[in-house]
Amino acid sequence: MTTILYMVVPCYNEEQVLDETSHRLKSKYEALIAEQKISTKSRIVYVNDGSKDKTWEKIQEKHQENQMFSGINLSRNRGHQNALLAGLMTVRALADCVISMDADLQDDIDAIDKMLEAFETGSDVVYGVRDNRETDTVFKRRTAGAFYKLMEGLGSQSIPNHADFRLMSQRALDGLAQFPEQNLFLRGMVPLIGYPSSIVYYKRGERFAGESKYPLKKMVSFAVDGITSTSAAPMRLIFWTGLVCFLGALIWAIYIIINHFMYGPDVAGWASLMVVIIGFGGAILLALGVIGEYIGKIFLEVKQRPRYLVEEFLNDEV
Ligand code: UDP
Ligand code: MG
Repeated sequence: MTTILYMVVPCYNEEQVLDETSHRLKSKYEALIAEQKISTKSRIVYVNDGSKDKTWEKIQEKHQENQMFSGINLSRNRGHQNALLAGLMTVRALADCVISMDADLQDDIDAIDKMLEAFETGSDVVYGVRDNRETDTVFKRRTAGAFYKLMEGLGSQSIPNHADFRLMSQRALDGLAQFPEQNLFLRGMVPLIGYPSSIVYYKRGERFAGESKYPLKKMVSFAVDGITSTSAAPMRLIFWTGLVCFLGALIWAIYIIINHFMYGPDVAGWASLMVVIIGFGGAILLALGVIGEYIGKIFLEVKQRPRYLVEEFLNDEV
């Protein structure tokens, strides 16, 4: 019996790249089917994440042309991570393994062979890790590197530096389905599943066409989400900073009191006072911000709203 492979490709305003992506994925699938590495029941599933352009029409067109292509239409834009989860959860019962990939061809399609090999030899999760980031800007490379270092320093687990290009077995997906959190950071969640995993290295290319949907502002909030959804360390850091400041202030207060009785009142020194007030004010606001970030997360979690709604699932009977 050959493996049923599903590819899940989230798409947000990707009409410009869909033709080329489909063309390349189709050739890859045809080659894999010819080599009897995957079954003819394998599918390429595009998840339309509430695109404003003709992406969904394009997906429908692809599906009509060839049953190899399936499509999931979400009710509205829910962001990359939710769109990806929607795809994974919708197809998990149909596939032996699922590979997630971006629509823009930045992930190397030829790495799929190696991922499948790793799956056949017992890996439930295969991470596609880029061994170069030359095609990203220096800024993106530096900040991403620093981010993964920080995550490793804060967290109990290390996260392979990958971009949601990974294979997951049905068993791993069933595991992922048991994570009920609203605030998704799949890169941080998948390693927690814990089944055997391995890494496949690949070269990351340029975006084929269109623009990155991750401008700086989204990148920062994605990084904050990543940290606060996997680690409570920032809150602990605040506690320790507060403790150190409090003890320091106590010692200083004792010094001031002794000074007052020995040498009389000291009227000068408002400058140092101002520095302390502003410094502490800033630190307190920062601390409140971090706590607010966690409380906001809790607020979102307790509402238990659905993470996505599937409006339509185009898939030929298998
Ligand atoms: N994407 C999505 N919903 C969004 C934003 C992006 O489904 O709200 C998809 C997008 O179509 C692409 C993938 O997520 O397939 C990664 O986005 P992009 O390539 O713009 O990010 P980058 O590679 O620049 O980090
Ligand atoms: Mg991209």
